[in-house]
Amino acid sequence: MTNTEKKFPLSLSSVVDSRSAQARQTATPQTALKNLARGESRAAPVNSVPKTVAARSNSGHSGSGLSPAVAHGNPHGMGSDKIRHAMVARVAQQGVQDALVLDALAAIPRHLFIESGLSSQAYIDASLPIGHHQTISQPYIVARMMELMRNGRALQHVLEIGTGCGYQAAVLSLVAKQVYSIERIKALHELAKENLRPMRIANIRLHYGDGMLGLPQVAPFDGNILAAAGLEVPQALLMQLAVGGRLIAPVGSRSQVLQLTERISKDEWAATTVEACHFVPLRAGVI
Ligand code: SAH
Repeated sequence: MTNTEKKFPLSLSSVVDSRSAQARQTATPQTALKNLARGESRAAPVNSVPKTVAARSNSGHSGSGLSPAVAHGNPHGMGSDKIRHAMVARVAQQGVQDALVLDALAAIPRHLFIESGLSSQAYIDASLPIGHHQTISQPYIVARMMELMRNGRALQHVLEIGTGCGYQAAVLSLVAKQVYSIERIKALHELAKENLRPMRIANIRLHYGDGMLGLPQVAPFDGNILAAAGLEVPQALLMQLAVGGRLIAPVGSRSQVLQLTERISKDEWAATTVEACHFVPLRAGVI
């Protein structure tokens, strides 16, 4: 990858001249996939429970304490572990290698975050509508962003901009000690609360507000994921990144790229373009 070291603030031009799609092209077939098929891997085997996933996490924290209601999946078929593991296997096939992230993806029942009329599509690798012209992100991109943000590290504080229905926040809760997530649409903030409540995940804090401002009161963050695309990464978010921290954001309008920004020192950030992507727009203010 081409790292372009930049002084703060970063301009869009610092992004577009980087090489794109390299990470995906160089991804190697990964063993978690084969292991998944055998059901013997670090990735959760079929019929395992998320509690096991949290307990086996190598992130150095105590896990999220998912409730038994979630841990045992859904008795109505759609939430079967098998179908979710098939989705995770496809994500792994596309190059995501971080076993902790794949485990987390396998543990969270995505169908519980979308309306019942769409639940038959919950485990296809696609974004789906959640109302208010917004979407639940595609599982592949959720995993990819988390892998890039984590970079093998144990994460303490992470920030998500764009809670939406709360799905990615739930997945993040299994790879970070404390998750903060901000949503600007009140109705979606409430929807996420409703979706997450029965899961009794102890380490997620949901905020209603403009995520472009970040959360200075709890910064710095060692990871930040934006689930909506702006023309550039908001400066407040760069400032709230810990030194050594990683921010992953879609950048652009019609044509977007996934950008990784790492804070190198107090006043230096390095930006890398990872691959093309497609997200809903990042907007200022609340509604
Ligand atoms: N994280 C979600 C994806 C939701 S889509 C998932 O798990 O699938 C992106 C969300 O970003 C939308 O709900 C949109 O309202 C929200 N958003 C856009 N601009 C925002 C901003 N400035 N602050 C907070 N949320 C924002």
